[in-house]
Amino acid sequence: MTSPTSRRGFLAASAAVAGTMAASSVISAAPAPRDGPQGMKLILPPHLSERAFTRGLSAFAGVVGREWVLDTDMDRHTYLDAYAPGDAEAHAPSAAVAPGSVGELQALVRLANEHRLPLWPISRGKNLGYGGSAPCMPGTVIVDLGRLNKVLELNEELAYCVLEPGVGFFQLYDEIKARNLDLQMGIPGNAWGSVIGNALERGFSQAGDHSANICGMEVVLPDGSLVRTGMGAMGNNATGPLFRHGFGPSWDQMFVQSNFGIVTQMGLWLKPAPQSVISVGIKLPRPEDVGRWTDIVTPLRLAGVLEGNLSVTSYQASATLRTERSEWYSGRDALPDSVVARIMSRYDVGWWNGTLRLSGYAEVNEANLKIIQKAFNALPQAQLTVSRWHQGEPGSGVPAPSVLPLQIVNWHGGRGGHLGFSPILPAGGSRVIEQLARTRQRYREFGIDYSGTFYHSGRSVSNVNLMIYNRDDADLTARTRALFSALVKDAAAAGYAEYRTHLSYMDEVAATFDHNDHALWRLHGRVKDALDPNGILAPGKSGIWPQGYRDRRQA
Ligand SMILES: Cc1cc2nc3c(=O)[nH]c(=O)nc-3n(C[C@H](O)[C@H](O)[C@H](O)COP(=O)(O)OP(=O)(O)OC[C@H]3O[C@@H](n4cnc5c(N)ncnc54)[C@H](O)[C@@H]3O)c2cc1C
Repeated sequence: MTSPTSRRGFLAASAAVAGTMAASSVISAAPAPRDGPQGMKLILPPHLSERAFTRGLSAFAGVVGREWVLDTDMDRHTYLDAYAPGDAEAHAPSAAVAPGSVGELQALVRLANEHRLPLWPISRGKNLGYGGSAPCMPGTVIVDLGRLNKVLELNEELAYCVLEPGVGFFQLYDEIKARNLDLQMGIPGNAWGSVIGNALERGFSQAGDHSANICGMEVVLPDGSLVRTGMGAMGNNATGPLFRHGFGPSWDQMFVQSNFGIVTQMGLWLKPAPQSVISVGIKLPRPEDVGRWTDIVTPLRLAGVLEGNLSVTSYQASATLRTERSEWYSGRDALPDSVVARIMSRYDVGWWNGTLRLSGYAEVNEANLKIIQKAFNALPQAQLTVSRWHQGEPGSGVPAPSVLPLQIVNWHGGRGGHLGFSPILPAGGSRVIEQLARTRQRYREFGIDYSGTFYHSGRSVSNVNLMIYNRDDADLTARTRALFSALVKDAAAAGYAEYRTHLSYMDEVAATFDHNDHALWRLHGRVKDALDPNGILAPGKSGIWPQGYRDRRQA
């Protein structure tokens, strides 16, 4: 992942999905896209004439140079949502612009105010499953921060880094290796994206919630001014990436999943590489075993025997990664139990499969392993497999980035995509079982194959429910969208909400936060209007609409 120096190189390394998925047959096997680059119509921002729009882009070119204003049909196509569950043009950008410095970005934001051009920042734009590189409001101009891709600090002694937004997981991993540093970082299942973009979306991995590792930011506000948060707000203070707060209020989380600023630098905490790792693979044979699993791991997680996100994933993950559905079943309904049994038998997996990772000092890991094994005596049907790694042995004790999981979207053939519905539940077995039963019933009703994971983080559990589709199968995508909306409603009725969602569902999910007549979203709106009176920054992000576009809210 080298630094792109030409516009062509930049495009190849940036948001484009087609043609770059070397590890996946997803795109190469796909039929010619219907929303292909030729003749992709220009969708203008609301209330703006084509002349005014062109004048705005010319002003942008005066700042970044003509080659970094990306406004051809091909460019617009590049920044569409590659996994759109329906019409990708519902979130079509009008153009993209790629600043080469923070100063250029500030100038662009000021011009955007002057020309009333709405902007949508992306770091690497790989937010696949949540909208990819596309904006919420059609006609918005993408601000691609891929050219700001420097690792500004990488500190082994205190285990942290300071990054620019274009730094990807592969780049950071490679830099840690190249400098031979004993550090590890949390890496999402799809590691193609940016470390900052992922943290700003509250991305996660086995290591836990990545936004929880944020420590200090530099941000361009919607008026183009620049601010540093926390201790970094003091010009010569070196503790910005070390101490979470400064003096007075803390602002970092205000820029997470919001449209209040464009983050140009972030401090992030890493972890020392472990001396030893014990991996405990766990197979659970029956769907209802996930309840006992939850009740066993909750006290272990709260007591610190286990750390990070503890996940169990349903059987289907083994099949979707390696095969296509047509190999197993041709019905339009959800996979029947007989096929589920065949999948479990072929891959020798349980209905649920998890890995508990003990990472750190060997003596502590061995002691914690004994505690875990004893706790699982309460679930005799669980099959545990233990493997060990010690520093100096072949292999590595730290997770490595991969894009292999992207293959799952090939399940139905054609141009694949997926959505994930992820409500947050209390960490209690009976609540988890109720959620599972309700969700599986809905999947059956809409004829969608169930694929779920429970990520346990101590007091709460995030239940990621995947829905995979072929974008060219209109009936399947329509059923998927209907299932998604039904799940939002069911969860809300049970008192649960999602922690993150796709562009098309931001208003729907935001509307479920209804305490005191949606007081929290009214507060977001007031902050938005105070900081961004012209509404130029990411209108609609997380259901936060500025006053000028508030009539576009969809729920
Ligand atoms: C098969 C598969 C597996 C996946 N597994 C995981 C997983 O395990 N964990 C996980 O978290 N995700 C996962 N994802 C989702 C997604 O691919 C990753 O989260 C990815 O890291 C997000 O893309 P990105 O990092 O390039 O962020 P971007 O797309 O660059 O940014 C995401 C959003 O954050 C905002 N944003 C970005 N940069 C800025 C900025 N500088 N200032 C202000 N706002 C900004 C924008 O709204 C943007 O749309 C998976 C996806 C797939 C397809």
